[in-house]
Amino acid sequence: MEEPEVKIGLEVHCQVTSLKTKLFCSCPADYRGKQPNTHVCPTCLGLPGSLPVVNKKAVEEAVKVALALNCQVANRIVFYRKNYFYPDLPKNFQISQYDYPVGVNGKVYLDVGGRKKEIRIRRVHLEEDPGKLVYKGSITESPYTLVDYNRAGVALIEIVTEPDLSSPKEARLFLQRLRSILEHLGVFDGSLEGAMRCDSNISVAGGARIEVKNISSFKEVERALTFELLRQRNLMKMGRKIERETRHWDEVRGVTVTLRVKEEEMDYRYFPEPDLVPIELTPEFIDAVKRTLPELPDARKDRLTRQYGIAEAEAAVLVSSKPLADFFEEAASMCKDPVKAAKFVVHTLLGVLNYYGLDLPESKITPSHLAELVNMVEEGVVTEKTAKYMLRDIVVSGRSPRRMVDEEGLQKIADSAVLEEAVERVLEEEKEDVEAAMKDEKVIHHLVGHVLKLTKMRTDPKMVYEMLKERIERLKTSYASA
Ligand SMILES: [Zn+2]
Repeated sequence: MEEPEVKIGLEVHCQVTSLKTKLFCSCPADYRGKQPNTHVCPTCLGLPGSLPVVNKKAVEEAVKVALALNCQVANRIVFYRKNYFYPDLPKNFQISQYDYPVGVNGKVYLDVGGRKKEIRIRRVHLEEDPGKLVYKGSITESPYTLVDYNRAGVALIEIVTEPDLSSPKEARLFLQRLRSILEHLGVFDGSLEGAMRCDSNISVAGGARIEVKNISSFKEVERALTFELLRQRNLMKMGRKIERETRHWDEVRGVTVTLRVKEEEMDYRYFPEPDLVPIELTPEFIDAVKRTLPELPDARKDRLTRQYGIAEAEAAVLVSSKPLADFFEEAASMCKDPVKAAKFVVHTLLGVLNYYGLDLPESKITPSHLAELVNMVEEGVVTEKTAKYMLRDIVVSGRSPRRMVDEEGLQKIADSAVLEEAVERVLEEEKEDVEAAMKDEKVIHHLVGHVLKLTKMRTDPKMVYEMLKERIERLKTSYASA
């Protein structure tokens, strides 16, 4: 049976973390870890008589994002009131945009299975973040709800895609790419918790569009969409109709649940914000912003392959995150062989980080640690296996690789007498494997494993293999002649 067509669109809300103040007042935008309700003023609390003033830098940042996403930038932008009631929204409306957003008709390219796929961007606009509801324990068990308005009025950029993504995995790839672009622009710090949030909509085989809200991380996007896809397919198999609705992703239980039947746009009673005049964006202003755009991930990928001679696939992984690409370039500047450094980062370091569930900035490894490790392998001080073993330690301990080698005696065994002794001992102790190896050469690899274990990975597996092969051959001949 042919896979039914899956269409996924994303609505990404991203805090503009480069701003010092909120979108419409001069309260500090940095609310994390602060005493609740201390970064507030009459404007962000929506008190009568207060008036919003647009943060000019926020408009500039939004224009940067629109340009980086290849959008047409508007010559005139207008703020609207989006009316709804919720305790985190003291004004009972959110200042957002409706017609005349900052950018429209953009595109982002993804590498999907070795080919380039275009994801269309419907719009990019500015709006304010609501406050934060705080519960005692879980939402359902909390006896009360508290509200902290420090976040109310922080600038958000909303990025809406067309439903061009065809799998949960593609959705995750898109978010990674978007984050990397925003990080390269410097408008967004991906290490801040909750700075990027995402809603998504998904439909299967032309069925109704289901919105899934409250997704907090890239991993959760993939999980939530995978669940929703399965749920919709099962309903269709049973011949049930899929109704248009908004569902909530319950991270703990790993399911989506009905939140409400989807409201229509008209329910928000959008109208132009009467306290703010439309803003003209002159071609000169847009050009000036364009000239400040830094190197973005696509261009950086090309440069990495040219400058360091690394493979395109590895360069693509490196630019998927700005901290990762920065880390590589700093390490490469200290490495004798940048190609080896790239391979080590992509194929070994990322695996180790994944194993510990750490992001690079959370780990203790520095670019000079990595350069030292790669250089020591190059110089023949340690084996590649030892370097991998050391990496698992350094990522969490931050120890210096050269000191670690001295302290733990991890130097590669260069003395062939020591190596021969280890080989002899294994041949002596692993009689069963030796006999099997005489019949089947593949078993020699088991014996290599024993020698590596005995020497704490300090030997070159290829060399050990050659030595063992030769010894097994000799044993075979002596058996045959006996
Ligand atoms: Zn304020």
